[in-house]
Parts: sequence; C-alpha cells; structure tokens
Amino acid sequence: MNELITLLKKALELASQFEGGYSERFFGAEEFTKALGIAVNEFENGNDSVLDDLQLWFLPTSDWDDFIKLEGLELGQRISNLLAEYRANAVQCTCQRPPFHYVGYAIDKLGENEQGEATLETCKYCGAIWLNYLIEEPQYSNSGRWWRMEVTQTEAATLNIANVRDFIEQQDSCFAGGSFYNQGVHKKAKPICVK
Ligand SMILES: [Zn+2]
Repeated sequence: MNELITLLKKALELASQFEGGYSERFFGAEEFTKALGIAVNEFENGNDSVLDDLQLWFLPTSDWDDFIKLEGLELGQRISNLLAEYRANAVQCTCQRPPFHYVGYAIDKLGENEQGEATLETCKYCGAIWLNYLIEEPQYSNSGRWWRMEVTQTEAATLNIANVRDFIEQQDSCFAGGSFYNQGVHKKAKPICVK
C-alpha cells in the first residue's frame, strides 16, 4: 500500500513534466496529470472508488503509456501490478456490505425479550460474526427495525439477550435498516440508540 502510493506520487511527478499528446480518455498530458493528481489524493485518503480509474489508466498501452511512453514504461508496469494486487486483497466478503442476505450464515439465536430478538450470525465464507438485533411491533405497520454489527469471538461469547441492547448502544458504528426506515440500510454512527 505504501509502496503503491509512493510509486503513484512518482508517476504524478513524472507526468507533470509532459505536455500535449492525447489518449483515449484525455486531451493532453496536462489533463491526465490533473485527473491523476485528484485520484492519487483520494486513494491516499482511503477512497478506494478511484481504483477503477487508476487501474484503467495504468494498463499496458493505456493512458499512462500514451503520454509518458518509454520513459514511464517500467514505472507504469509496477504500478499496474501493485494495483491489481491491492485490489485482489481489498475485495471484501459480501457479508461486509449491504444488501445483507439471510443465506450463508450459521445462525445462533440469543433469544427474545419484550423488545426484540437477537441472533449471532457467523458468515460461512469468511468466519465473521455478526450480531443482529430486530425489533418488531406487529400492532404497528412499518415498525420493523434492526441493528447489525460485526463482533469478535470474545464479544460474541459474552453476549446474551439481556445485555445486547447496551452492547449495541456502546458501539461506534453499526448498520441499521428495516421497514421503519423505509427499508433503507444505512450506516449509523455513535450515538446509537436502540428502541
Ligand atoms: Zn463473510
């Protein structure tokens, strides 16, 4: 990761020495350098959504090669390889992001209380343990709401229906959703209020 950012910055510096030319996506090295600068900055700040562009630009015979040509050949190749490597490792298990499906888990019921129902769901693919707490008030329509967060094995062992609400409210963030929220799954940050 650090090596990748170092090389991307090197590429940015090299690109800034070029002008003119054209590629499939850019009119001139200046335009490419500007876009590259923004993408590198975003990537450095943790925004992985720029990876699609970066990977495309650094593919062999793509934009980087069009503008920097032989001088950037080796650097471009190294960046292209590192980007592919980074992406392969960064791909998260599907249990880490919405939509959350109900298949693919070993489900362990923690029980029910007057408020809601708690389950621990262990992902069969990556082993992550998810705590899920669901409140439904059948007498009201659109009252279903749930909270969901990953927990460690140690935490899972201490959880029970009596302490689960407090536990959730002490977390820094979680996912939440349900008909109460018009089904919209969203990420919630502190303070989390379970009711
Ligand atoms: Zn998983």
